[in-house]
Amino acid sequence: MPLTLALIAHDQMKPALADWAADHEAALRPHRLICTGTTGGVIAERCPALSITRVASGPLGGDQQIGALIVEKQIDGIVFFIDPLSPMPHDVDVKALTRLAVVYDIPLAMSRSTADLMLRGGLLAGA
Ligand code: PGA
Repeated sequence: MPLTLALIAHDQMKPALADWAADHEAALRPHRLICTGTTGGVIAERCPALSITRVASGPLGGDQQIGALIVEKQIDGIVFFIDPLSPMPHDVDVKALTRLAVVYDIPLAMSRSTADLMLRGGLLAGA
């Protein structure tokens, strides 16, 4: 059964997330991807075959929309490449999203190595 994964990256990290999605394109293709606005555009351009639904841009409420989807049990996993070196105007939204991922025990990868482990660990296996 297809899963729903949220993919989000801060601006400096978008190339890294697009690389990750391209490297795992075959594994991701059967699944539904929900992305914040700009991230979704970057990934769609790089991997046009992926099924991507875009919510609002993160700073304009997209992180909160994905948080609401977590509460509604519509998200099975999250890959969120945060920029650890830049202050974010919507830092509170980022914190709220990551907090909800923990509250609802949704797998959350915030770095390339963890995202790789999440896939290799079988999140998509048999889905
Ligand atoms: P964006 O939002 O994909 O619209 O840039 C991501 C974020 O900053 O949370």
